Amino acid sequence: MMLSFGDDSSLAANLAEVRARIDAACHAVGRDPAEVSLLPVSKTFGADAVRAALALGLRRFGENKVQEIRSKAQALSDCPVEWVVIGHLQTNKAKDVARLASEVQSLDRLELADALHRRLQQEGRCIDVLVEVKTSPEESKHGLAPAELPALLDALRGYDTLRVQGLMTMAVQSEHPDEVRACFRRLRELRDAAQARGHVLPRLSMGMSGDFPLAIAEGATDIRVGTAIFGARHRIV
Ligand SMILES: *Cc1c(COP(=O)(O)O)cnc(C)c1O
Repeated sequence: MMLSFGDDSSLAANLAEVRARIDAACHAVGRDPAEVSLLPVSKTFGADAVRAALALGLRRFGENKVQEIRSKAQALSDCPVEWVVIGHLQTNKAKDVARLASEVQSLDRLELADALHRRLQQEGRCIDVLVEVKTSPEESKHGLAPAELPALLDALRGYDTLRVQGLMTMAVQSEHPDEVRACFRRLRELRDAAQARGHVLPRLSMGMSGDFPLAIAEGATDIRVGTAIFGARHRIV
């Protein structure tokens, strides 16, 4: 069951606070806040929460389960929502993704690119993609091993339905900011190295509710924020 969401005024206040923290984090390192785009992560919250966020001017929403995108897209078929996949994707979900998503940030293997490409061709669509890289040692984290990134980026040049825009990562869960920040720095360095080889990768999606100021300091262009906007999730995902 999806959580219902009843409090629009706290949503507006949360959003204003997150925006103020983005501004502060940018100013602290001399960046323009306009360079950082906020992706609200609505996973586990129902269509009513997304509708409330739409009323506040948000348009793109991050989800980690295709099934949730499907049910929310149906409930919100009257609204101009753009769905962004941020969770681990099985190839058998490619059809729904090709139909419903505007972007995939969790592309981590060629087999998935292949499946998405075939389905996108059938739909006559193109989507933006980010390659998810594993920058933390935790078993639970998904993403491509950094050593495999050059080969995947080269191979992705062959898929004209997938517009590769940059990289995504989840940092290690740690109480030590240095360790978290090192993950973000790693992603930026991997991006810089790939650009030196001729790839064009302007976007770095990194930073969540608990760590986005550190990600902004390391060059994040996209931060993915759930809890700080929608509140605590009551279901582990
Ligand atoms: C859930 C999730 C987020 C948002 O996490 P919060 O800590 O709630 O901000 C960001 N990125 C990914 C990949 C997620 O699965």
